Parts: sequence; C-alpha cells; structure tokens
Amino acid sequence: MLGLMQDWPLLLHRIIDHAAIQHGTREVVSRAVEDGSLRRTTYARVRQRSLQVAKRLGREGIALGDRVATLAWNSDRHLELWYGISGIGAITHTVNPRLFPEQIAGIIDHAGDRILFLDLTFVAMVEQIQDKLPSVERYIILTDAFHMPDTTLKGAVPYEDWLAEADDDFAWAEVDENTAAGLCYTSGTTGGPKGVLYSHRSNVLHALAVAAPDFMGLSSRDTVMPVVPLFHANSWSLAYSAPMTGAKLVMPGAKLDGPSLHALLEGESVTMTAAVPTVWLGLLQHLEATGGTLTSLKRVVIGGSACPRAMTEAFERKYGVTVSHAWGMTEMSPLGSFCSVKPVYEHLEGEALYDLKVKQGHPPFTVEFRITDDAGKDQPWDGQTFGRLKARGPAVAKAYFRREDEPILDEHGFFDTGDVATLDAAGYMQITDRSKDVIKSGGEWISSIDLENLAIGHPDVAEAAVIGVAHPKWDERPLLVIVPKPGKTPGKDEMLAFMTGKIAKWWLPDDVVLVEAIPHTATGKIQKTKLREMFRDYRLPG
Ligand code: ADP
Repeated sequence: MLGLMQDWPLLLHRIIDHAAIQHGTREVVSRAVEDGSLRRTTYARVRQRSLQVAKRLGREGIALGDRVATLAWNSDRHLELWYGISGIGAITHTVNPRLFPEQIAGIIDHAGDRILFLDLTFVAMVEQIQDKLPSVERYIILTDAFHMPDTTLKGAVPYEDWLAEADDDFAWAEVDENTAAGLCYTSGTTGGPKGVLYSHRSNVLHALAVAAPDFMGLSSRDTVMPVVPLFHANSWSLAYSAPMTGAKLVMPGAKLDGPSLHALLEGESVTMTAAVPTVWLGLLQHLEATGGTLTSLKRVVIGGSACPRAMTEAFERKYGVTVSHAWGMTEMSPLGSFCSVKPVYEHLEGEALYDLKVKQGHPPFTVEFRITDDAGKDQPWDGQTFGRLKARGPAVAKAYFRREDEPILDEHGFFDTGDVATLDAAGYMQITDRSKDVIKSGGEWISSIDLENLAIGHPDVAEAAVIGVAHPKWDERPLLVIVPKPGKTPGKDEMLAFMTGKIAKWWLPDDVVLVEAIPHTATGKIQKTKLREMFRDYRLPG
C-alpha cells in the first residue's frame, strides 16, 4: 500500500521560490569583479533574474540535459545562473578556474558544455584555449556593456545585455527529481577527468541535511558568507542551504585575501562563514598584524583539508568564534561530517575539547560510514584502529559522468573515499590521511596530518607539510617541510623538541627543511604529489 501524501518532487527551483516568497527582502550582497564595489540585491530579485536566465537560455536552444558552464567567482550573477540553468532542466557545470588552462579545456570538452559564462578575470585565459573548446557555441561575459572588454571569444556579449533580451515570464521545467542538475569535476591529478553529476534530489536532500543545527546550523537570522567557491563542490551547499533558510548571503567575488574578507565580515555583520584552512591563514595573519577583531562572526566552518588545532584555538580563544571542522569531498556533494559537540562529550573542556575539535566529526542524516581493512573487513569503532573510510547515502556519487560502466561502489553500495580514518564509539570520524599520503614506516602507518597539525602550533611556523621519503630500513620516514613566519628560522632541534612528548617517539620527523612556499592544488590544499616530486632526490641525514 502506498502512502497518501502529495507528490512534490525535490527540485532546486523550489529553493529559490521559497526564498523569494518567505524571505524576499533578504539581501544578497556581492563584491563586484569589475571594481570591487558592493552590489546589493534580494532573493526576490535573484529569483526573477533566474527566471529570465532560464527563458533566455531556452532561446539559445538550451534544453533538458544540456551542459552549461560557469567560470566565475561567487556573486549574485553566478547564483541566478545556477537556478536559471537547472530551472530549465539543463546542468550547471561549475569549472574551477584555478586549474591549469589545459585541464580546464580538457574538462569543458569532456563535459560537452554548450555555453560558457565567465567573469572578466578569465577572458584572456579562455581566449587562449578557445580553439580547444569545440562544444562551446558562445561565450557570455559576466558584466555590463560599460565594462565589456574587446575579445575574440565567439559570440561574446555582456551578460546584462544578453539577459535583458528576456523577461521573467517563465514556468520552471517540471522534471523528475532525479534529473541531473549540476556537474563538478574533482581536481584529482591522475586517471583522467572525474565528473560528479548531482541531481535535483541529491542537492535538495544534502542542503536540508546540512542546514541543521549540528552541521551548518543556518537560520533566517544568519548572514552567511560562502568564501568557499561555488566551483568547489557547490560551495559546500551554501548557495542552496542559505536561500533555503532565508539567511542573508554575502558573496566575496574575486577578493579572498585577509583584508578584503575582514572588511566584508565586519561591514556586512556576517555571522557565519566557510572556507579551506589556507584562506583562514590569510585572515588570521591580517588580524594579528593589524590588531583587528571579529565583532559579529559567531561560527566558521573549516574543511577541505585538516583544520590545524592552532587555527581552531586562535579563532575560539582570541576572537570568540566557534569553529566547526568539516570533512567532505566532491563525490559527497560534498559534506560528510561536522565536528559539533554531542551530549556524550559535553563535559569536555580545555585541551580535551580541542582534542575532540581536531576530529572531522560525525555525519548528518543521509550519510552512513564504515571503515574497513584492505580486504573489506569492517574495523572496530574504537577511535584507534585505522581503516579505509567508506560512505553511502542519497547524495553520494554512484558513478562518474561518462564513465558510468566503471564500478566505484563496494558490494554493500559504499563508496571508498580514498581517505584513511578512525571512528570512535560515539560515531566521530578522524582522518588519519589520504590513503596515498599516509607514511608507511616499518609496516606501521604514520599520519602526516597529525604531524602537520602539531608543527603548525609552533609560533614561528606559517605553514607545514609532512611527506614520506624513502628509507632503506623503514621503507619510509617522515620529512617535515616548513614555511616559516617572516623573519623567523625555526631549526630542526627546536622543532623536534617542540613536538617531542606530544606524539609517539617513532613518529618524530627524521628531518626538517625550511622552504619559501609549499605548492597548493586548485582547491587550496597542500599538493603532496608535487612536494614529493620536489624532494624525490632528497636523502635523509645519517
Ligand atoms: P580534490 O581532491 O579535487 O581536492 P575534494 O575537494 O573533493 O577534491 O577533496 C576531498 C578530499 O579532501 C577528501 O577526500 C580528504 O582527503 C580531504 N579533506 C576534506 N576535508 C578534510 C578535512 N577536514 N580534514 C582532512 N582532509 C580533508
């Protein structure tokens, strides 16, 4: 017997409809790419313009299942494109502009994008690769006629002129909720492009699940600044969950440096924000240098790579901002866990609380975890035993785009995340490493993340990375690579003394080297592959 409830497909346009009806006057503030000034609009207006986008796309011949690409910073225009593109049944392909031009051309070609919307910042780069983009029929520049550059891009017009050619008299496409709505490629460097194809249903369920209090914890009284880009796995859902809850949105555009972010946090009274650790490193350094404060910010979500304990402590102790450590990946839509405090751990304080807060946390409803050994056998949830972290749920990928026949799930339907983790009895997950970054020493594993977390706590260290280097007896041993703070030169003995007693003795790095910069990936993570290459010929002392 079937239930007798209404059939109300979980379609993305319902989110912007709800925002416009219930929170229509709530603002969306964007830092303009053209001149850094602030542009103000509302959810009601964003919805109108999304309807215009959909109608105008229809006139370009865009239809169900077509891919439409964006190469853009976080802004109101990017937001209305999202809702407009999926609102006609097409697929928003958010391209990461931080990839190399060759990689960008490769994934646009793989996706078969028909139109590319791009910010002014990227015009010159795209001109160089346009002959490698056979599927792209025309380019729309996200600006107005006044700021329109001279360009050789095919059919290029200013977005505002293009949009003005349609009104908002449009009915959203009523498609099946499992219809594809978004496409995002992982920035994985090997094995060819891997596109994750989100559906309306998966994005709606994910937004609902992560908006809840133990996770993003959003309400209509919040002002949310997604520093994490829309092209980095759905800006961790904020472009869906903020309008869904009616939170005001602040979009930082192209300026993600410490001073620019601080100005927006204070000027717009932001209460909640989210980004990768490298972004927050810039903000904290700026605050330290200027004696600045954070007067309205209550919560910061930090993820994408491990949040160092020193960063959590700085935000919480110095600035009174609660840190939520989060873990996820493109294939997970992307959020898989948050470290909020469950009642079982409510008694923790001081150092013990920070021991908990370095963990990646517990999953929302819609995500199930298991950890297994290499043979697929479940490992105990004791907070100690490492295993391969596997996940399953309605917003977890089951295959990659245009590689549908390659199985990526185990026999129970779990996806292997490629991360190594522990789970404790209360369900808290802690990442030990990416399976390819874990250091294998004498048959045992050393967590590069734990060592990095520890090293970054030293007052002279700006950034730290640990890689395994070949060792004749132990197979691999850890090498600590440090970017010192300006004017500082922390030595090997000093660093080892600082770390001694805080980890098992045999985990201590065999050597410490100072460098000017550590390479990062397109999503702001330490690029371990590149670092290992840099130190390929490195010989450990002794
Ligand atoms: P890419 O590999 O393209 O950068 P993702 O952004 O999807 O793709 O990266 C997902 C990976 O990032 C995870 O598998 C994990 O290794 C790492 N990661 C994400 N959040 C955290 C975190 N809080 N702590 C440690 N690692 C993290």
